[in-house]
Amino acid sequence: MVNVYDAKTFEVKWPLGHTDPVRSVCFSPCGEKIASGGGPHIGSTKINKDFSIRIWDAKTGEQIGSPLRGHGDAVSSLVFKPDDPNVLVTGSWDKTVKLWDLSTSTCLSTMRGHSKDNEECTCKHGQYPCDYEANPDCPVRAHSERVTAVAWSPCGRWLASGGDDCMVYVKDAKT
Ligand SMILES: [Zn+2]
Repeated sequence: MVNVYDAKTFEVKWPLGHTDPVRSVCFSPCGEKIASGGGPHIGSTKINKDFSIRIWDAKTGEQIGSPLRGHGDAVSSLVFKPDDPNVLVTGSWDKTVKLWDLSTSTCLSTMRGHSKDNEECTCKHGQYPCDYEANPDCPVRAHSERVTAVAWSPCGRWLASGGDDCMVYVKDAKT
């Protein structure tokens, strides 16, 4: 559940519903939309876990479009592009960062870290986690553990993400 409060009175304006706990929430730059990200309780044995991202109309409390699905674990962080409220970046415990086009409800790109599931990763995959220390030439520059924070520079060009691998990665959002 996401509660939207009047910041002066702390009265609840809209209760916005997910079907699992909410891990992240943010407003679009001009305040017209709200995004929220779901993720079940740790250890949940529920079959249909809600890792969705939902977009809401901040004026009416109505959900906009269908939930965005694609993350395989909790959506720990999300933020709108400062100069384009139709673009959202999300970070997840599934170790990926995703860019979304909200006008078409599609995932534009997924940033994956060192893993055997990532074809760009040239680390030795005989072990987990990947031995990046021994393979510094691996071209992958993304998280090998849970992503816990995402941020966008005010100019909209640079994306930053932080994770349980003790790293912050900064990426040019144009590439
Ligand atoms: Zn690698």
